[in-house]
Amino acid sequence: MTPLEILLGQLRLTALRERLDNLLDEAAKKEMNLREAVQFLLEVELASKTDKRVKMGQAMARFPYQKSLDQYDYASQPSVDPKQVRELATCRFIANAENVVLLGPPGVGKTHLAVALGREAIRHCHSVLFISAAALVASLAKAQDDGRLDDKLIHFAKPKLLIVDEVGYLPFEKRAAHLFFQLVAKRYEKGSMLLTGNRPVSEWDQVFGDAVLVTAILDRLLHHSHVMMIKGTSYRLKEKRKSGLLQNLPSVEEGPRPDSTK
Ligand code: ADP
Ligand code: MG
Repeated sequence: MTPLEILLGQLRLTALRERLDNLLDEAAKKEMNLREAVQFLLEVELASKTDKRVKMGQAMARFPYQKSLDQYDYASQPSVDPKQVRELATCRFIANAENVVLLGPPGVGKTHLAVALGREAIRHCHSVLFISAAALVASLAKAQDDGRLDDKLIHFAKPKLLIVDEVGYLPFEKRAAHLFFQLVAKRYEKGSMLLTGNRPVSEWDQVFGDAVLVTAILDRLLHHSHVMMIKGTSYRLKEKRKSGLLQNLPSVEEGPRPDSTK
């Protein structure tokens, strides 16, 4: 290794070290002056570091799939306010430890938006963890059985943004509801949660099975929060209907068609 490569290694400028000859050739070819060349090299290193950080953050977040905000089609979901999504994408809500609740029927893009906002959070240097509500309470219950509940609560309290998907698809048992409450209380005003659910908040006492507990949970969750109610039909079914696969299936907005039984 040349002394320059050793220096780049000691400064952890690994992208520069690996691609130095090519980058210097490119700078020479473009006839950059010294100042331009230094800036060009540092930009390459920064882009590489950002790319690595985002990849690492995404691996740690455990998203179920990758979707971005650019891939969200607002035209097909008029109840979603693009301005509100853009505001959330600035991640100010994370800096302020506020929560986000995305509610709506299946297929309207709740998980898509949750993943996309999670990716924005990673780009903004926040740690993110994505987990389904069922997996979250199962993990807490197991930790409690093993006498490690405190450690697990600390684990789930750590990420700056905790995304809990599908709250309310399955009602929680009393113990699960209690564990969920403990986590919400631990994160309250310290770190943001993004919840998705298919039932309006007014029905969450049925999800958590206990009116007192649900009041305590909602009190903390909704104190500083952004709630988005997504109405409308499933994107997946809409796509199928468009392609003619599901001609007779009524959409939620339309209600049953008079001729749907024929
Ligand atoms: P859910 O609301 O049940 O969580 P998803 O977010 O998983 O639904 O959406 C189901 C599928 O439809 C995903 O592949 C998602 O990317 C896609 N989808 C939903 N809404 C939109 C939309 N408005 N624009 C683009 N894709 C969408
Ligand atoms: Mg979903």
